[in-house]
Amino acid sequence: MITTNKQIAIVGGGPGGLTLARLLQIKGANVKVYERDLNKNARVQGSPLDMHDGSGLVAITKAGLLDEFKKVFRPGADKKLITNEYAEIFFSDHETKQGENFGSEYFRPEIDRGPLRNMLLESLQPESVVWDSHFISMQKQNEGWLLHFKNGSSAYADVIIAADGANSKIRPYITNIKAFYSGITMLEINIQDAAKATPQMDAMLNGGKIMAFGKGKCMLGGQKGNGDIGFYASFKTDKSWASNSGLDYSDKKQMLDWFKKEYTEWGSNWYELFEHAATPFIPRPVYCMPLEQTWEALPNVTMLGDAAHIIPPFAGEGANMAMLDALELSECLTDDKYSTIQDAISFYETNMRKRAAVASKESLDNGELMHSEKALSIMLEFFGGH
Ligand SMILES: Cc1cc2nc3c(=O)[nH]c(=O)nc-3n(C[C@H](O)[C@H](O)[C@H](O)COP(=O)(O)OP(=O)(O)OC[C@H]3O[C@@H](n4cnc5c(N)ncnc54)[C@H](O)[C@@H]3O)c2cc1C
Repeated sequence: MITTNKQIAIVGGGPGGLTLARLLQIKGANVKVYERDLNKNARVQGSPLDMHDGSGLVAITKAGLLDEFKKVFRPGADKKLITNEYAEIFFSDHETKQGENFGSEYFRPEIDRGPLRNMLLESLQPESVVWDSHFISMQKQNEGWLLHFKNGSSAYADVIIAADGANSKIRPYITNIKAFYSGITMLEINIQDAAKATPQMDAMLNGGKIMAFGKGKCMLGGQKGNGDIGFYASFKTDKSWASNSGLDYSDKKQMLDWFKKEYTEWGSNWYELFEHAATPFIPRPVYCMPLEQTWEALPNVTMLGDAAHIIPPFAGEGANMAMLDALELSECLTDDKYSTIQDAISFYETNMRKRAAVASKESLDNGELMHSEKALSIMLEFFGGH
């Protein structure tokens, strides 16, 4: 095996990095994961992830974790409502959705990011993850690299894999191609203990997800396992809206006034989200990596997941692609058919770029449709057909 007796460093313990660590360990490789979080109890935040049949779920299955996944996913969290701007329901699968339908290509089980991370962490050999390892730079040493971390420590590895997300600090060692702004910004709104804070919306969601479309804008929300709900007000604006809006994102009153003005002609049902949100609201401009990006494979450094391809979230592909990257890279690095690690990396990267470009195009197209005047009818047609 080309990686026998090689030390592999994965930088970043997100869905991509941890899946890779597990898959490589199954094949007998020496792996360490360097993660900037201080310890395993750091709360992993963000919207729940839906796992897809041909990508995330394949990786989980190949990692020998499908039974474990079935214990920790959230049955029913994938049920959805589609509404107009007045929260009038035009589509609901609440009555028809099966809690569990593994094996169907349309079944996309939801899992919160925390339980997904815990499941992957528990599957690793003890001491695989080195916490409090915020990567800042690396320099060549012998055949490999010496990694430097913010806390002053350093570590040697023969092969480096960047799994450190959208703002990867390792990506610039591979390419200087940068992500572009998609034209859409999402304002994240978090509601804690939603049953008490926003009872109407909580009852409407009923443990599932909601997508509301109207006048070229969206409200996208979902319930989390801990009783919180997360929403995104998603709209087209210029790239610097977040810093130029003049809004105080910690001022709920200002944010509600903004919503009333920006989402004119939207109903008052949405107001409680702004009145009872945890502050601050978080603006997230949506970026995408150029579809035609390419670079020459390096001898012993590569990347996966958001570090390699930021994909807008309008097709739910990002974590799924990160985990499929992990599967394909683990197979390349442990397959005897490659004579060098560079050949294995080159094969993996060529496929990964093609796959990511397809997913990015689909996500960009979905983003355009979801923010068009006809979004509601387009989405009804799409989901009605499934
Ligand atoms: C609003 C929204 C909704 C989404 N919904 C979905 C969905 O439903 N389905 C889906 O598949 N995807 C979804 N995504 C995309 C998904 O979140 C990402 O694509 C996915 O998390 C990427 O995984 P990753 O492992 O590459 O990176 P990340 O999840 O970003 O993990 C990177 C890890 O690296 C660590 N790290 C970062 N910098 C350093 C450093 N310098 N040194 C050491 N460690 C570092 C971080 O702490 C983190 O643990 C969504 C994204 C957004 C924004």
